[in-house]
Amino acid sequence: MPAAYDPQNIFAKILRGEMPCCKVYEDDVALAFMDIMPRAEGHTLVIPRTPARGLLDMPEDALGPYMLRVRKVAAAVKKAMQADGLTIQQFNESAGGQVVFHLHFHIQPRWEGVALKPPGAMGDKAALEANAAKIRAAI
Ligand code: AMP
Repeated sequence: MPAAYDPQNIFAKILRGEMPCCKVYEDDVALAFMDIMPRAEGHTLVIPRTPARGLLDMPEDALGPYMLRVRKVAAAVKKAMQADGLTIQQFNESAGGQVVFHLHFHIQPRWEGVALKPPGAMGDKAALEANAAKIRAAI
């Protein structure tokens, strides 16, 4: 039996405006905001408004529109951060590395020869805001 969607997860609270986020983009389909523990400068998360735990729970009719937003934000992140490439990650269930159980894609800008930072370090708030402003301007 797959686990149920928990409407008290942190991203659901962000969607409802009950928790703050450093917003990059939003429309009727998706919300994008800065990852508070960035593994690269400009590390952005894109979440659907649809309450889905992971990729396999996402209704088919909602998936296409959501993926268009993932790509739209990814293009803006790459442009704004003047990145050479992108790493796009999406984890499913604890065994797959998922920690927050609301579907999300990580958009991580990459530069030749620059490794991802190790996970778990909080980002500097001013730097998150500055990167978010750059990405917003590139959308
Ligand atoms: P995962 O479920 O493994 O993809 O990890 C969840 C991601 O969400 C991690 O990269 C966290 O740094 C990030 N995260 C957790 N809480 C917040 C929050 N309140 N605002 C922004 N990012 C968050």
